[in-house]
Amino acid sequence: MEDSRYNQFVFYKPARDCYDMTFWGQNATRIYECMGAGDSQDMIKFSFDCWAPAINIEYSYHIVSPNKNLFGCVGLKNKEYCILNKQYTKEEYEEMLPKIKHHMNEMPYVDKKGIVYKYGEFFPSEISLFAYNESLAQSYFPLTQEEIVEKGFKWKDKEESKHAITIKAKDLPDDIADVDDSILNAVIECEVSKRAFKLTPAEYQFYKTMKIPLPRLYPDERHKNRLAKQNPMKLWHRTCMCNQENHINHTGKTCKEEFETSYAPDRPEIIYCEKCYQQEVI
Ligand SMILES: [Zn+2]
Ligand SMILES: [Zn+2]
Repeated sequence: MEDSRYNQFVFYKPARDCYDMTFWGQNATRIYECMGAGDSQDMIKFSFDCWAPAINIEYSYHIVSPNKNLFGCVGLKNKEYCILNKQYTKEEYEEMLPKIKHHMNEMPYVDKKGIVYKYGEFFPSEISLFAYNESLAQSYFPLTQEEIVEKGFKWKDKEESKHAITIKAKDLPDDIADVDDSILNAVIECEVSKRAFKLTPAEYQFYKTMKIPLPRLYPDERHKNRLAKQNPMKLWHRTCMCNQENHINHTGKTCKEEFETSYAPDRPEIIYCEKCYQQEVI
């Protein structure tokens, strides 16, 4: 990224002049306060789920085909100068927009917790389509039900599974060679969560081809295990642990360089500063 800050999950380049963006930034420029923006977009603000070439979009959702100059729109295709999905002329649009923004500042939305949303803020979390605990937020920043409610987010109770289990995970064959198509009708009980899950035909075929044993865990449990292998979304202030004597950036065995790292202090890895890392690894 170039000249950008406070972005997350940006994995395509180039992305330039972006601020407060989550996901994913391909050819994105001047994206601000957005969740899901990229694919040759410019000047997208306070919007989410925008993934087609678009210019100058504000407070909009699901922009999946080329659009320009939209305000408060949902799911439009090849449109320009629309407000709340209604078509205006360029002149009308340009005349109305400053008035709307002024009005948003004069009479802002105030949520149940008293948080004020003037023009320039992302959508209030209380109108989110999703509860906190069913979103990625809960995977990376887990909160209890009380904390979620306290912060004004939505909580969703787990739905009771109505599926009749036909086989427990421990009774699945160990070797994929001993499994046949009938497994596609099986309702498997997860070893850990006890939730029911099935296999899809493509998934089954993949395990067969790659000679991989059947999963024993409900997909959410597998996801949780994968996330546990990543470093947490947290930074610790640490000092370089280098003990090499031949580095040009420090004398003797101690480098005093300090930095932020996602490796917690109690982890076993040796953490180098950038300069020492480059001398040791590159
Ligand atoms: Zn160092
Ligand atoms: Zn060093």
